[in-house]
Order: sequence, then C-alpha cells, then structure tokens
Amino acid sequence: MHLELPPADAVFFHVDLDGLWVHANDMSDHDFRDHEDYVFESGFEMMLEIFKQEKIKSTLFIVGREMEKRKHLELLKQAQSEGHYFANHTYNHPKNLALLDESEKEQEIMKCHDAITANLNVNPVGFRAPAYFLDKKSIAFLKSSGYIYDTSVFPSPYGPLIARLLSIRSKGKRSADQHAFLQPFSIELARRKNKPYYPSSENPYRKGLQKDFIEFPVTCIPFFKFPFHASYVLNSSQLLFRAAKALLYLSKIPVVYLFHLKDFSCDMKKEDLALCSSNPLGYKTQSERVFIIKSILRQLKKIRNPMVIEEYLNFHKI
Ligand SMILES: [Zn+2]
Repeated sequence: MHLELPPADAVFFHVDLDGLWVHANDMSDHDFRDHEDYVFESGFEMMLEIFKQEKIKSTLFIVGREMEKRKHLELLKQAQSEGHYFANHTYNHPKNLALLDESEKEQEIMKCHDAITANLNVNPVGFRAPAYFLDKKSIAFLKSSGYIYDTSVFPSPYGPLIARLLSIRSKGKRSADQHAFLQPFSIELARRKNKPYYPSSENPYRKGLQKDFIEFPVTCIPFFKFPFHASYVLNSSQLLFRAAKALLYLSKIPVVYLFHLKDFSCDMKKEDLALCSSNPLGYKTQSERVFIIKSILRQLKKIRNPMVIEEYLNFHKI
C-alpha cells in the first residue's frame, strides 16, 4: 500500500476527548475518576453544536474507558451520526506511553481499539499518544495492527521551557512538569518536522522510506515552531493565532489543528480549575472561548481547505 501525503492547502480538525479526570491526573496527580465529568459532557455537546454550525467534520481521539459510561457512549454515537470519525487515544490515557513496557503499551492501544470496534462498529486507523509521548515500538505495533497514521509528534522545542515556567509558578506541584523535564531542550526537539511525512521505523521523528504509514505532526507556527493549537490560544491571546495565520500564508504546509473538550466546556468550578488548569488565572468563560473558537475555525477555513484524514487517506491509497 502506498499512501499519498496531504496537499499543502489542507486543514484537519482534531479533538482529543480528554475528560476532567485526565486533566486532574496530568496537572496535579489527583484522582478524579469518580468526579462528575461536566467537562466531557458539556464540552462534547458544545463541540458538536459548533462543528454543525460551521459545517466541520473532525476526527475525535477517544480515551477508551470513556465508553464504559453510557452517557459518553451516547454522545459518541451522536457524533458518528453527524459524520465525525474516531481515532485511538489509548484506553487509560497513561502519562507517558513510551515508559510503559511493551505488553502494557500494546494493551493500552488494543483495549481502546477493541472498545471502539465493539461499541461504534468502526475500525480506527489513526492514533495520538497522550501528551505526545511517541516511541518507535508503539509505531511498529500500530502498523502491524492495521493503522495508517499517527499524529503524536509535537514539533515544538519549547515544551520543556514552557513546563519549567509553569513549574516555577506552581512551585513544582504539577506532575505534568516533572514528566516534561524528562525531555530536555535539545537540537533533536528543534529538528522535529512540522510537515506530514513517512516516519522511519528506527526513529519515528525522522523520515523513512516506506510509504504505508503517515505521521501528521500537530502543526506549530511555521518557522518559529511555537504551539498555537486551541488550548494555547485560549490560555494566552488571539495574537498567537494571528501570528500563526500570517506565517501559514507564507508556508506550504497542511495544518493539523487540535482542540480538547475543555476548550468547549462550560466554566470549570473554581476548586477544579486550581487542580486541572495550566493557567487558572487566564481562564476564559465559555462564551468567550466559543467566540474565539468560531473565529479560529472561520479564519482557518479561509486559508486552508477542511478535510478529514480518514476520508483523504481512503481516497488516496494505491
Ligand atoms: Zn489526551
């Protein structure tokens, strides 16, 4: 099989379906699994509404265990009936997939895969590792399980730097920061590709020869490689998006634009915000966020052509 790389004028919309418990676990090590997940439910409903209004089809990255909840499964079925696609985001959203042993990695991927197949009657072909921790063993396993793309590469060298700044502010309380410390700032990080490519089986961050699997990095600002996906823009300023847009005019790269459910959700309770947000002080209300998200979607649609990876690859394989 030979897959064709996407055209430069494409934009792909992705949503990681991370519930409140995922953010609590990432940010503060708190166990929120039995906590009422209003972020997942209200975020999902608003996401579907906005995508319907803006006529956008997306790929939704499912954390497998969400399908154990009847209400969440109903929302997923509604998304399916509205034309959205599903991809695999592991079963339990482990903090660092690359650090698990091989059989645990395979289980995280397969358990989510099987749950999607059993509950939603589709075979996912795409994957994103939680917190972008990708490794070559997971890629090899995905390929051998019939997957044709991965979208775990985060091609920004600033991740560790941002984690250090946040860590200073939170006085080292956020567990996510300690994980980011495992990835020191390096030339290797700066060399990561921003444009989709065929990954090498030896090092998935580099190009390889086989054309049967594509890596779609989460697009960062061209040339400067600063992240500009929705959570970053919503936590900082729209200027970040405007800068990205100006540089996207000048560069010929397709865009993978990423959202999380918390970008769409109702306002977080104050006590939850302190445990689940990277920037509780800069938190915006739902109506402010919805306004910004719609503006981002409209602007991206003006400069790129919305596509869905699953549909694109289905039509462009030889
Ligand atoms: Zn996630």
